[in-house]
Amino acid sequence: RAKHEGRGAIRLFTSAMDKQLRERRALDHDLRAAVERGELFLEYQPQQHRDGTLKAYEALVRWRHPLRGIIPPGEFIPVAEQSGSIAQIDDWVLMEACREAASWTEPLRIAVNVSAAQFRRENLDAHVRKALRESGLAPSRVELEITEGVLIEDIARAKNTMQSLKALGVQIALDDFGTGYSSLSYLEAFPLDRIKIDRSFVMALGQSDRSLAIVRAVIGLAHGLGLPVLAEGIETDAQMSLLLKEGCDEMQGYLIGRPRSLLAAKDDKESRLRAVS
Ligand code: C2E
Ligand code: MG
Ligand code: MG
Ligand code: MG
Repeated sequence: RAKHEGRGAIRLFTSAMDKQLRERRALDHDLRAAVERGELFLEYQPQQHRDGTLKAYEALVRWRHPLRGIIPPGEFIPVAEQSGSIAQIDDWVLMEACREAASWTEPLRIAVNVSAAQFRRENLDAHVRKALRESGLAPSRVELEITEGVLIEDIARAKNTMQSLKALGVQIALDDFGTGYSSLSYLEAFPLDRIKIDRSFVMALGQSDRSLAIVRAVIGLAHGLGLPVLAEGIETDAQMSLLLKEGCDEMQGYLIGRPRSLLAAKDDKESRLRAVS
């Protein structure tokens, strides 16, 4: 009997895997057409200095699927990374974000996420140079957000890629810091401009002493290396005041502003950033 049930479980398991695989394939198929059909769009989330001044916006991609509605990046970026359609998406995001930022009246930074696959591309710097040239945006206003994973894969190569990007004049931030496998000591080997503490540590602030210890250590380390620290995912005043007290330099999170489409934000402060002409 046990044997029988076991087989049933296996059958269930494989059919669930089949379904998952089919869904992934369907998603990937749709995704390839999505860029050309104009189904991708960007939302922008503010990043502010500890003194309260607005410094930057992070561009976050969304997919308006004709049948499934709005799909968050966490659901389609990994699919695109596996299938290879990511390059097209990343190119579109970079170009669109640079164009948007070039239309702002204040010279704020635009932060753009670079997927691991994009970072490994031979000619990433050529793509960035093209986006800068076509948008007319000053390179110093662009910040590329990379994750720890790309650094540990091949340290020498990652360093080369980063140096070629730095040579263009763009900035580089280390995103989701603390979630990867990086050792703190190698941070100084890379030409970084900023470290972003992952939301998971910020979320636990005030509830666990361990997360406070981690946040304190990351800020201490970054400052020791001369790098500013940005905390992401700040949702409460308590988290904000703890981060200020610990010397965190920059802040991002729902408390400061949710990601949203700037074109849609007609009547508020953000719309004043757009050129009136
Ligand atoms: P990320 O770069 O770490 O972006 C931060 C994520 O946290 C965003 O989710 C943002 O909406 C969310 N977030 C910000 N503040 C808060 C907060 O206070 N509370 C909570 N609960 N969440 C907050 P999103 O937009 O779903 O993006 C998820 C991830 O997808 C990003 O993480 C990034 O790794 C990736 N991603 C987003 N846009 C792009 C893109 O254009 N290209 C690539 N390659 N990856 C992207
Ligand atoms: Mg990011
Ligand atoms: Mg992040
Ligand atoms: Mg994150």
